[in-house]
Amino acid sequence: MTIKEEKKEFTAEVSRLLQMLTHSIYSNREIFLRELISNASDACDKLRYISTTKSDVGVDDLKIEIILSSEKNTLTIFDNGIGMSRDEMVENLGTIAKSGTKAFIENASESKDLGTQIGQFGIGFYSAFIVSKNVKVISTKYDTNVTYSWESDGLGSYSIAKIENAARKGTSIIISLDADSEEFLKTDKIKEVISKYSDNINFPIYLKDITSDIEEQINTTNAIWTKQKKDISKEQYQEHYQLVSRNFDDPTSTIHYKAEGRYEYDVLLYIPSSRPFDLFDQQRKAKLKLYVKRVLISDDANIIPSYFRFISGVIDCADIPLTVSREILQENQVVVAIKKAIKNRIMSTLQKMAEKDHEKYLTVWQTFGTVIKEGLYEDFEKRNDLLKLLRFASTNNKEEIRSLDEYIKDIKDKQKSIYYITAEDYESAIANPILEGFKARDLEVIILTDPVDSFWTASNVNYEKYDLKQVSHAKEELIDVEIKNKDKEKKSKNRVEESAISELINRVTKILDGQVSDVKVNPGLIESPVCLSLGDNGYDKTIQRILQEKQGMELSKPVLEINPDHNLIKILSSKIKNKKIKDVNTLTNLLYDYALIMDGEKPHDIANFSKNMQEILTKIK
Ligand code: ADP
Repeated sequence: MTIKEEKKEFTAEVSRLLQMLTHSIYSNREIFLRELISNASDACDKLRYISTTKSDVGVDDLKIEIILSSEKNTLTIFDNGIGMSRDEMVENLGTIAKSGTKAFIENASESKDLGTQIGQFGIGFYSAFIVSKNVKVISTKYDTNVTYSWESDGLGSYSIAKIENAARKGTSIIISLDADSEEFLKTDKIKEVISKYSDNINFPIYLKDITSDIEEQINTTNAIWTKQKKDISKEQYQEHYQLVSRNFDDPTSTIHYKAEGRYEYDVLLYIPSSRPFDLFDQQRKAKLKLYVKRVLISDDANIIPSYFRFISGVIDCADIPLTVSREILQENQVVVAIKKAIKNRIMSTLQKMAEKDHEKYLTVWQTFGTVIKEGLYEDFEKRNDLLKLLRFASTNNKEEIRSLDEYIKDIKDKQKSIYYITAEDYESAIANPILEGFKARDLEVIILTDPVDSFWTASNVNYEKYDLKQVSHAKEELIDVEIKNKDKEKKSKNRVEESAISELINRVTKILDGQVSDVKVNPGLIESPVCLSLGDNGYDKTIQRILQEKQGMELSKPVLEINPDHNLIKILSSKIKNKKIKDVNTLTNLLYDYALIMDGEKPHDIANFSKNMQEILTKIK
């Protein structure tokens, strides 16, 4: 019997989410079982954790039950874990202040099968509405004798009520199955689904069929990470990965070992094959469960660095005191030592993979390289190891397959540095005239196109005995390297006389006053008349834009570099000599706009650009 029923509206986001869930077609509706079993297991984990500091909390028979009733058409999932108070029910099942709901709604339209993603977004409970239009939750918190029930049809509202006769401690989720979901009343079906998704659950799962009065345990509860590698099949690893990551892809790689030294611990980590949806969320941590002798003490402990946050898995260490509070976990000396060791292990695993299984490493790099690169500016101590892991496209190779070691192996005589250019994409980098001097000397230039590249290259980076140098800053040292013969020929034809160069620079500087910081000769240019560069100390453009946005810093003006060997520059020079002022203005402005375009920017003043362009074009007869 219930008393004091209250009706409450869902928040708008939850309503929208439920609407989406109930109106979608799913290829694997069974996913709801994985989500609810996972919640039940979390509830048991939480109670076991509490019991480590409260001796009166008994946790010997923590368990999960799946109860089927064909008579009532219901499937119930019960756990005797932590339970929920009234307020917790409202908070957890009706409000969802988490970002997950919003993210799910935003991402959902692109995805065909919402069910496979729901767990990742931290909104697994609602998956019950995939198979039901009536879900009831009855819960008694472990330290009270009061039971509350929560009920909803998955439309706009839910009701919450206190139940007069307290039910057993824990939580029951009672699902009235829709007509097209009645297969979940069959024990065989449940067993199949549990063995597929939930065999690694740490607590016994019992299956009870009320009609036939049969009850049996249907999982093994062996903590997979404590087993020997040889006793674990690929499928078992895969299932466990999917359980901890709450994702549906296969892991590309599994790191499983027992550390035996000063501290003993089991490590089982997975490198996924696809990006989690929130990979670039600032708050995201690796989905990593930290156990102390199989008691879960944290599932968001910062054990691995954030630049490895795509990794998920389990760490179980007997040497961390069970009573350590989550707040001071990070200061615990065992945790500190484990963190360091695990980081090194991940690093060496990736390194080995890069050496031995090129293809596999390439997939990992293409999927997570952008994140790994964050380590280059976050973790100076490991920078060299991370630079070894770096893969990039270059003027020699469009695909991201070169390593710095390969680059160095092919380095030219007299080449002083490792050269790179940052750009929005490969094509615009290649088209940038600033690379001409490098191409003419067969010097390989690394092409970096991730926004993060602007950050890690902003501080001085060196590898082996070489500095990494932005092409803009490498002009002087370029001259020492011999130019290829065919480019030599191109260069010598139309040179502006030496005596006219300073006048040329003066005039161009005046005309472009306020737009460029300097005008210079660039001896590296071969086929283009002009190009832009950053100036001697100028930051990369991405960094400049961020500084402008965040700190109101003014963008530094580019340097216009000219090629005195180019026909157009020769024409400009002769127009200056003959005092054709209008032509000099038009040509200079057009050359500057050309340089901007080749640098991936827009012309300085579109209206003027169009006017100048027409003026020049009408002269073609
Ligand atoms: P998540 O489990 O990812 O946090 P859910 O939507 O599945 O998201 O659940 C929301 C919250 O409801 C949980 O974080 C938990 O606090 C609570 N909850 C769900 N199921 C249970 C349960 N069986 N026992 C206790 N609390 C639960």
